[in-house]
Amino acid sequence: MVHGKPTGPITQTGDTVGGLVAWAVRELTGASPSPLLDAELLIAFVTGQPRSSVLAFPERPVRTALGDEVERLVQRRARGEPLAYLVRGQEFYSLALRVTPAVLIPRPETELLVDETLAHLPRGEACAVLDLGTGSGAIALAVKRARPEASVTATDVSPAALTVARANAERLRLAVRFVESSWFAALAGERFDVIVCNPPYVASDDHAFAALAYEPRLALDGGADGLDSLRAVLAGARDHLNDGGLLLLEHGHDQRAALVALAESLGWALVAVHTDLAGHARVLVLERGRGGARAARDERDRDRATAPRVTSIQKHSKSSAPRGRQKSPQ
Ligand code: GLN
Repeated sequence: MVHGKPTGPITQTGDTVGGLVAWAVRELTGASPSPLLDAELLIAFVTGQPRSSVLAFPERPVRTALGDEVERLVQRRARGEPLAYLVRGQEFYSLALRVTPAVLIPRPETELLVDETLAHLPRGEACAVLDLGTGSGAIALAVKRARPEASVTATDVSPAALTVARANAERLRLAVRFVESSWFAALAGERFDVIVCNPPYVASDDHAFAALAYEPRLALDGGADGLDSLRAVLAGARDHLNDGGLLLLEHGHDQRAALVALAESLGWALVAVHTDLAGHARVLVLERGRGGARAARDERDRDRATAPRVTSIQKHSKSSAPRGRQKSPQ
């Protein structure tokens, strides 16, 4: 169609980039929080140009077939489909990741989890990192890119998610080992220096699911109180950490108190808590204790006297990285 008019014949010359942008913005206003950005990104994706060209050359003609493809994608976006699935990609920690509906779209707040993981990984030292429930591979790949000397393992229970994660690793040329596993099930006898996990933590009856309908329920639904997966990871991780090792968990904005109580009841000691850029409690850093913080401290002192694997434990309460959006639903 000619997108400058409500109806009209399909012609070779009917659509220009600028005309398509204007039409798409009208279609998306009210349906998307960012109509102009979405329009530009969808047109850039379909026409294979960078967004800067969409902005710089509005007079460029667009072939009819491409105009029609833009129209289809704009209509899907207007119905609520996430932009990342439509353009099959999402940037995370400066990595261009491919995403499909088999994986959760990596969130800006999860960049905080990467920041904190890296803050606890000494540069230039070999160490073993595990990313549990990797989805698109986001956390594992960001860690591997920043710390090439780390050996990084990533698991997911979903074979379809692992296919996406493996393809991302190949495309980005990052050597991460992928294992199909429900939490620790396929990792018997293995130990790591750092275990990091962004598990599903949205409570099953949370109204947030209305806005999350396109993403895999498996990656989001944390059971009745949202803590089922966090419970499973806290229970399992003890037996898979090296001495002095750390567990880093992302959690929901209202789960910190319950999660800290749960962790401490399972013998974990709190190392640090972190708040995301929207001001939400978001990340816990834990270490194995034999019951409470005191025993954990003693154990750590002993470990330090011998051969600590993780040496640069930094404690701070806020990320300093200027990344991420300013609001986060869960
Ligand atoms: N924070 C995510 C959201 O926006 C939830 C991610 C998760 O469950 N791990 O809904």
